[in-house]
Order: sequence, then structure tokens, then C-alpha cells
Amino acid sequence: MNHQLFETWNLDRTQLSPEQQTELARHLETCPECRHTAAAWECVQAEIKTAPRVNAPAGFSARFQHSLAERRRLAHYRQTRKMLGILGISLLVIFLLLAASTLARTSPAAWIGSIIRIIVDAPFNLLELRFIAAFWLAKIPPLAWIGASSVIAAWMLVFTLTGAWTYKRFHHQGELLR
Ligand SMILES: [Zn+2]
Repeated sequence: MNHQLFETWNLDRTQLSPEQQTELARHLETCPECRHTAAAWECVQAEIKTAPRVNAPAGFSARFQHSLAERRRLAHYRQTRKMLGILGISLLVIFLLLAASTLARTSPAAWIGSIIRIIVDAPFNLLELRFIAAFWLAKIPPLAWIGASSVIAAWMLVFTLTGAWTYKRFHHQGELLR
């Protein structure tokens, strides 16, 4: 029998058959190393058994359960934020790749030319746009204006309230976890 096996037996004697226990006892008589391990292990077990039991502070489990729910929600929020961040970065990367491929396919002279054309034409284009806008705005009846503005105002109110509520909720969670 090899020494390694006795070392394993030494640390878990509850699973041993009577024959194995005799064998282990015989080995311990001849092997100082295993005797040392056995003594140390017995010491540790005695220490564990005699150590005083420490009770958790009052209300610990209730507090832990409560904060667990909060921590889960916070982890979920962080996960969502991370996913949105990844999505934003991938969109940016795609946009940069598209821009790079466009720049690679067209010559610098061509896109400098088109930029100059856009700048030069801008005043005329803006004038035209303003004319078209003024033309169509004049055709909209005043009642439609009131309707459209109240719809926009209602949406802005909803967005502001939702944003404020979300901020307050997560801010409150942050306070709890601190
Ligand atoms: Zn041994």
C-alpha cells in the first residue's frame, strides 16, 4: 500500500471499512509523517467542535434578503446599461467602418470638392428650405398648431417625469447599498 492512500484515509476516516482502519493504524505506527498529519487533523476537529457558536445579529437574514432583492435589481440595471453601451459602441464602429470605406473608395479630391460644393450652395439651399417651410407653415390652420404643441408638451412632460422617477429610484438604491 502506498503512502498517498493513507494520507487520504487519514483525513476522512468515517468512510473506512474495519480492515482499512486496522491497516491505517498499522501504517501510523511506522510512518511519522502520517502520525503528524493525524495529530494535526484531530486538533483541528477538536477546535471546530469546541469553538463557541456566534449568532448572527438580530434581523440579519431579513436585511440580507431585502438587500438581495435591491442588489439583484441594481445588477440588472448595470447589465442593461452595459448592453446599451455595447450596442452604442458597435453602432459607432459600424459607422466608422462605413465612413472609412467610403473615404477609401472615393478620392480625397472628390470629397473635398463635394464639401466645398455643400458649403457654397448652403445659403441658396437654406433660402429655398426657408421658402418651402414658410409656404407650408402658412397653410397649417391655427387649431392644428395648438393640437401639435399640446401633444409635444404632453410627451415632454411624460419623458421628464419618467426620467426623474428612474433617477430617484436608482439614487435611492445607491443610498441603501452604501
Ligand atoms: Zn505515511
